[in-house]
Amino acid sequence: MSRRKGWAVVMVLAFLSSSLSGCLGEDGFDLLPEKKGVPGGLTLACLRSSMYTSMVIEIDHEPGYRPFSSSTDLLEERLESVCDKPSGISVQFTEVDFGHTGSWSAQDVRDKGWEEKETSPRDGTTLRWQVLFPSGAYEEDSVLGVAVDASTVALFSDTIDDADGPFGRPSVEDVENSVLVHEVGHLLGLVNLVYQSPIDHEDSDHPGHSNNEDSVMYWAVESADVSNFIFGSLPNDFDDDDRSDLAGLADGSLAVRDQLWP
Ligand SMILES: [Zn+2]
Repeated sequence: MSRRKGWAVVMVLAFLSSSLSGCLGEDGFDLLPEKKGVPGGLTLACLRSSMYTSMVIEIDHEPGYRPFSSSTDLLEERLESVCDKPSGISVQFTEVDFGHTGSWSAQDVRDKGWEEKETSPRDGTTLRWQVLFPSGAYEEDSVLGVAVDASTVALFSDTIDDADGPFGRPSVEDVENSVLVHEVGHLLGLVNLVYQSPIDHEDSDHPGHSNNEDSVMYWAVESADVSNFIFGSLPNDFDDDDRSDLAGLADGSLAVRDQLWP
């Protein structure tokens, strides 16, 4: 590199670093990316009310991909039964165009999710979790839903549409109800994502999932295998073991890791 070029690089760096330090000095760390965390990284923020007294579920769906109202009603009911939110839990729908073609990776879900988030997941005293309903399928095409960080999940409705049972049981609506509660269950840290349960209910072949087929956290719920539930009803609620874990996390009797708050 010539001496002349070298100076140009130094000048640019000096300019960049001075403007960076100026912004950081005035506005804190706005220029640094916010930590996205791992699924379960905001479970205490949901389970407790000492900081976040209300909660918003942001539903970002593409045109024609708005979820059944039974799915979001059920999710609200399930969250209200485990999270302490004295000022309430509400659902906010936004129609968006993700501008994505081809299959989705976990990183795609993270990137598009954060582009569309209305505010930070921790917005004053409001905790905001986000559910994307994009068109298209996940790269592993049997996957119905994914949880990709502490505040972001996605459900793949095109795949869910094909996951109903051969005789319409469970129905597409049943499957969507269950998968939505299941993915948000991962944001609550289930099963053993950010703690170690004293109860042996994690499926040894499917880490992060329940071994109880009556729990919504049962491993088969997020895969196209759900059609196997034809002879029973598809679970859409947490079981006693899941609830015991969440109660232990809430009251501090169960040790927790990887939290973005507190
Ligand atoms: Zn799962």
